[in-house]
Amino acid sequence: MADTRQMVWDLSELFVSVDDSKINQTIAKAVDMATQFEKKYRGKIAELTPAGVFECLQEIETFSKEISNVSLYSSLAFAANMTLPKVQALNDKVEKLAAKLGIQLAFYNLELGALLKDKPHFINESILVNYKHLLERAYRCVEHNLSEVEEQLIIEKDQFGIDAWSELQSKWLNTRVFEIAVLGKQKRYSYGEAAGLLHHPDRTVRKAANQAIYSLLDRDGEVFSSALRNICNDWVTISKRRKHKTPMEDSLINNDTEQDIIDNLLTSVEAGVKSYRHYLKIKAKIMDLSVLENYDLTAPLHGTFERKFTFKQAQNLIIRAYTRFDPEYAEGVKEMFTKHHIDAAPRFGKRNGAFCASYYNGKSAYILQSYNGTLSDIFTLAHELGHATHDWYMARSQTPLNTHVPSIVAETASIFGELLLSDLLLAEAKTDAERRAVLCLILDEAGLATFQVTARVWFEQALYTAIEQGEFLDYPTICKHWVTARNRIFGKAVQWLPEMNAEWTVKPHYYMANYRFYNYPYVYAQMFVYTLYEQYLTEGKTFVPKLKKILSAGSSHSPLALAQTAQLNPKTSDFWNSGLKTFEKLGQELKKTL
Ligand SMILES: [Zn+2]
Repeated sequence: MADTRQMVWDLSELFVSVDDSKINQTIAKAVDMATQFEKKYRGKIAELTPAGVFECLQEIETFSKEISNVSLYSSLAFAANMTLPKVQALNDKVEKLAAKLGIQLAFYNLELGALLKDKPHFINESILVNYKHLLERAYRCVEHNLSEVEEQLIIEKDQFGIDAWSELQSKWLNTRVFEIAVLGKQKRYSYGEAAGLLHHPDRTVRKAANQAIYSLLDRDGEVFSSALRNICNDWVTISKRRKHKTPMEDSLINNDTEQDIIDNLLTSVEAGVKSYRHYLKIKAKIMDLSVLENYDLTAPLHGTFERKFTFKQAQNLIIRAYTRFDPEYAEGVKEMFTKHHIDAAPRFGKRNGAFCASYYNGKSAYILQSYNGTLSDIFTLAHELGHATHDWYMARSQTPLNTHVPSIVAETASIFGELLLSDLLLAEAKTDAERRAVLCLILDEAGLATFQVTARVWFEQALYTAIEQGEFLDYPTICKHWVTARNRIFGKAVQWLPEMNAEWTVKPHYYMANYRFYNYPYVYAQMFVYTLYEQYLTEGKTFVPKLKKILSAGSSHSPLALAQTAQLNPKTSDFWNSGLKTFEKLGQELKKTL
């Protein structure tokens, strides 16, 4: 591609090179700051006045600003080229240092919690107004915190306990060989390669990949159920020790949200499931099938759209899409290109996938992706630039401690950015095929995030209910719960291969320590943005400042309070129904292209 030079990022704003002597100077300074902080505050936070707490939090922020450039630089340099020994060494050193500093400074959160338990009125002290919501969140954790030693013991036990289950699952996947016939030729594939074939344009290949992967997983189903059963039971035990009312409460606290909001969301999604099934019927029709088989869910319909876009074309399209919404809203995006903060060139040794990393000190961000010019690549870029836009607004309005946005809100600008892009592409599309490609791409993704993920929430809920009722979670029982949850979403719109009962065994999230109920935030994020978008379509330009306000607020307010600034209320079903309406409308647009 001609513009390859434009597609490599410039990290010199952070450090000139891996050998930059400023890296070690910064590390030494940060280590010293942490030591001084510990000396000054360990065991003494309970005695602080409001002004003392203010000073303490400011010192944490100064420390985090100091160390952040080093951790950002080392992780970015490593992601861009994972094979360079010097970069590997730096990244390893910084990761270990960050873990050590994290343990060294963990006391401050626990002590702050204890202080607030004693003096909750500190939350409303005027000097602490910037940190009000941070303190509210710390206060909410207090009754669930254990002692410092107990917390350390849990981390240490997880390391060789739950983490070992997780290691076992990934080792299993990475040591298997899958026999799959691709276009008439039987070949042996690693898991990564086999999983890639699940999205193959050829239907028989997708089917063969599905059968090969899931029949092998199914054969060892009892091993995976041992893992999942024990992980869930461990979680029930720990939740009781932490005095959580339900196994979901820990995740609700981390996401800064409430049970009734999530219940409401899931109920609305279930009520709106017909619009997803309707989409799946249209997809079947496009594929010339009477009904979809499960391996058609991942069929890349947009992939039949051959047009390729240069990186420059992608840049222009995305900037125009953001500018159409509001010229200022595109400022952060433009800067990402002019400052060369995007690494989009595909090359050997680069990390897979795409991400956006916040660069607080520069009031900006860095994006990594491997851009190959497909429609899907432009959507990925528009998504990541949404994250950069969020960082752009947040860094201009918030101090570092108020930039820890929970996952239910963290995807707001990114999904919104995808919608802005699809709006522009649909407006300028010259053929129905073009429109269909754009619509299928966003509907597939939204269908996954909203509906398929909801089934996984129900599945997890069902496991804990089963444990509570004394049901033994052997392999057939876990599969039964999986299939029940799955069918609540798909109904008769999809037919499943029998080995797909083992589908749950492949999801790494279920085996990770402290990662229970990872799933509903995706549903929340997707529907939250679709609701905002519906609001934007109704209100037009008066909506623009509302979105900016939500993004600028960072984590200084709860997700509920953020929605309220846009006169929206996630506690009502109307709120979520309006997001589902956006999904339904996109489905209707797709129907028009047939
Ligand atoms: Zn994202």
